[in-house]
Amino acid sequence: MSRCQLPQLPNWLDAQQLAADAKTLSSGEMLGRKTGTEGANRARNYLIERMQQIGVQPWRGQFLHPFNYPYRFSEYSGINLIGAIPATTPEADLLVVIAHYDHLGNQGRRVYFGADDNASGMAAALAIAQQVIQQEQRNHTVLFLFSDAEERGLKGSKAFVKQWPDLPINLVLNLDMVGRQYGNYRLAVTHSNDPEVKQKLVELRPNSASCFAFGQPRFSTTGSRIDYSRASDHNSFSRYGTPWVYVGGSQQPDWHTFRDTFERLDQEYFERATVTSWQILSLWLD
Ligand SMILES: [Zn+2]
Repeated sequence: MSRCQLPQLPNWLDAQQLAADAKTLSSGEMLGRKTGTEGANRARNYLIERMQQIGVQPWRGQFLHPFNYPYRFSEYSGINLIGAIPATTPEADLLVVIAHYDHLGNQGRRVYFGADDNASGMAAALAIAQQVIQQEQRNHTVLFLFSDAEERGLKGSKAFVKQWPDLPINLVLNLDMVGRQYGNYRLAVTHSNDPEVKQKLVELRPNSASCFAFGQPRFSTTGSRIDYSRASDHNSFSRYGTPWVYVGGSQQPDWHTFRDTFERLDQEYFERATVTSWQILSLWLD
């Protein structure tokens, strides 16, 4: 594996805010953010408060977008959270940044904190929103979709595409597990099978804030083979032919255990992954 030079991190990133967001969203108070629980409600409230601070607007008049979904032969409900930073030009296409906010909940007093999965992605999305809003000219509206019920089979993102199948989306950027490294593996960037997407990412690579690799480690820690093109919310868009980039997702050993805590995040890796995610989005911003 060739060595890769890591540039200095840009000073626009508020690393303290990034850490604070990840810490709060993975705190015990959030109770593991399981779909349909008080913990999920608390996570939504925090995300709404942060979006309002940044200046992200409710999408189509509301942040909360409830939906129903079938799961194990019953009907359940979930709530997606959607914010928008409108383009400064009319008739603009959309870019969609996704980070699922749901996780596995708790078992009694033991909480699945879900710091990497996916407080890290949510915090990174908020940092990106802060950066998007600072751009004087924006030719695209950027949506921030904090999806629900991802852990139950991508239900929130499926509900989104079902409700709005015809949105002019130029790119979906999905952030899921960007807060810590799995062994010696680099940050993983997976993308839709699309030469234009690949080309942009290849050109970014020498200037990227992270040493990233295309694709994920092939096997999870449980030894099972995982198809990462289907492993998270980007897959819901994939069948519509929407270009997508998926950052993160290698299954570190603490994945889906009680040990996925804030303290175990690798802050520098996390900061670099956040900046890299912004760099990727900005390739589509012009
Ligand atoms: Zn996840």
